[in-house]
Amino acid sequence: MQAEPLLLSEKIPARIARLEELAYNFWWSWHRGSRDLFKMLDRTLWRSTGHNPVKMLREVPRDHLDEFAADPLFLRQYDAVLMALDADLNNGHLWFPSAYPDLTASPIAYFSAEFGLHRSLPIYSGGLGVLAGDHCKEASDIGLPLLAVGFLYEMGYFRQTLTSDGWQEAVYPVFETKEAAIREVMCDDEGKDCLFVPVEVGDREVQLQVWRVQAGRVNFYLMDAHHDLNKPWDQELTARLYGGDQEMRIQQEIVLGIGGMRVLRALGVDPAVYHLNEGHSSFLALERAREMVEAGKSFEEACQIISDTTHFTTHTPVPAGHDVFPFNLVERYFYNYWPRLGLGREEFMELGCANKDCNGFNMTVLALHMAGQSNGVSKLHGEVSRQMWQAVWPEKQVGEVPITYVTNGIHVPSWVGDAMNAIYRKHLGPDWIEQQDNLALWERIIDVPDEDLWAAHMHLKRKLMSLIRELARRARVERRDPEQVLTSGTLLDPEALVIGFARRFATYKRATLIFHDVDRLKRLLHNEYRPVQFIFAGKAHPADDGGKRLIQHIYNAARDPSMGGRIAFIEDYDMRVARYLVQGVDVWLNNPRRPHEASGTSGQKAAINGVLNLSILDGWWAEGYNGANGWAIDAGQEEFESEWAQDTAEAEALYNLLEDEVAPLFYKRDADDVPRGWVRVMKESIRTAAPVFCTRRMVKEYAERFYVPAMRRAQK
Ligand SMILES: *Cc1c(COP(=O)(O)O)cnc(C)c1O
Repeated sequence: MQAEPLLLSEKIPARIARLEELAYNFWWSWHRGSRDLFKMLDRTLWRSTGHNPVKMLREVPRDHLDEFAADPLFLRQYDAVLMALDADLNNGHLWFPSAYPDLTASPIAYFSAEFGLHRSLPIYSGGLGVLAGDHCKEASDIGLPLLAVGFLYEMGYFRQTLTSDGWQEAVYPVFETKEAAIREVMCDDEGKDCLFVPVEVGDREVQLQVWRVQAGRVNFYLMDAHHDLNKPWDQELTARLYGGDQEMRIQQEIVLGIGGMRVLRALGVDPAVYHLNEGHSSFLALERAREMVEAGKSFEEACQIISDTTHFTTHTPVPAGHDVFPFNLVERYFYNYWPRLGLGREEFMELGCANKDCNGFNMTVLALHMAGQSNGVSKLHGEVSRQMWQAVWPEKQVGEVPITYVTNGIHVPSWVGDAMNAIYRKHLGPDWIEQQDNLALWERIIDVPDEDLWAAHMHLKRKLMSLIRELARRARVERRDPEQVLTSGTLLDPEALVIGFARRFATYKRATLIFHDVDRLKRLLHNEYRPVQFIFAGKAHPADDGGKRLIQHIYNAARDPSMGGRIAFIEDYDMRVARYLVQGVDVWLNNPRRPHEASGTSGQKAAINGVLNLSILDGWWAEGYNGANGWAIDAGQEEFESEWAQDTAEAEALYNLLEDEVAPLFYKRDADDVPRGWVRVMKESIRTAAPVFCTRRMVKEYAERFYVPAMRRAQK
């Protein structure tokens, strides 16, 4: 056998040489034409590599590539895709450069502990990371000058498997850097030596290797401590996402905020504006202050500049979602840092404290103190955040607390199913993606023939069922456990109503609410004419045994013969499973304990695909629901005697909706077997949600309300 060349460039024929560039830019992941191109190259490899073009190009035989370099059909597609890529990368007619031609020189630096771009880059755990990835993809699409800073985790977030009694096990496959669309950043033009950036973590110096990832026009700089220049224990710093104890956590956050800033300096980048996505990167503001104080400014002057040019987004009202470090821990890592800011111990600690009886250094408080502008991620979450953090501004009334809101959205090209995209292209126009935030465009959804929309939906539903069978088949071969084949959904009936519930198994999300009254649930499942089925998926945090018990509860129900195979649990929820679910179920269920769901975005992904939301009026749905575009689970009261009373009342409301409205509407068919009433709700849901709960609207809002004013202040 011929030895594999190390460099792809030596293997790929000149005529199609830019395949490599395409593979190394996640732009392909939201452009159908380029996915088709890779599929044309080798359908089997495309699947077996889990849609990873870099791995695929490494594995595809050279003579195979030679053949395609002479295949006119392939070349036509290749040329078209690269033309589209070039247009996107260089086009001056994108929204931001057209609207603000004077503001394209200095970028916005977006800091986040996780980014969800694609399954092949496992550096995300859930909603926060997917939102960050979607934000950056959208920034690329509208031409916003933005770069991102984060981590390259050696093992990322875990893959989930369940034991035969339903207990979650975490598997950490080591991430193969050679097989991923990431590249080492070099420190010289010849490209011989990798860039390493030193950062002090307590009394040690840690060297950060820097990797670059591209998604369209946006560059990601990812820090990696896992290499020989570091001591073994320091290599662990970037081993796992949210894996360690508090000590590990503060060290990681030093790497993210302070190390991240050092990386930008080493790259010669001077951002105009900094966006802290969650409090994990708050130390970044201190590092900027240190630079300015050491250059001769006072700490107060530095704070003013930082305030003018920093934006902070808080993402959760759940207290455990905010890092609070014990003072002695902070002291150990910062005792030699606060003098460099011109501060004493007490002044330093106060930066992370909202009031005098504060019990630790709070990273969200630090961000709120340092950033000039802050926001929550839905209207309701904005209100909750103002109450939650009022103590940071003791002189202000709750209503005056300077935390506003920008409701989250989703990156539409990443989440819309092929069949729906075809419908939108045909009826809204081939440039519908470009106009997605235009409300008037979506009025035309009324004109789509009911049977076409329904057929597109059924196509996506069948694709979900195929995925379920494929995963089950694989599990059967690997684990030989017939029960697990059944629990993963092989008995589901594709013609019957399917309700999806998939998200992290945090307890406030109440994954098991539907089991509150098992007899009533069984009546729904076994209704002879109108059966209801449920598909669950989601991971519990590896340290959260409460969350794991919820998974086990559902797994046991799925296994219970008296549930009739109408309940399924799909293992290893990630962006791929999410995509199939939000496109292929009929109803998307969300029943958090209000107001704990800051926004929730999976329901927005469902909406763009014509999947109907059935949800508590929390997060985005409190804004999105209009009475005719889905269902609100509402027990008619705000206050409850106890959590049990709340669960009972809200479960009751949920059963009522399913029995009286959801199932009857779904099963009411005309002579062509089309549920006309249901399709009317699908259209209303698409019409109202699509133009609003998209990152196109969201990122433009961040730009117009925050980035642009901050960029102008930075120019002064
Ligand atoms: C969209 C998404 C989420 C976020 O879902 P919520 O509705 O916020 O719970 C989590 N995980 C994955 C893999 C996703 O794609």
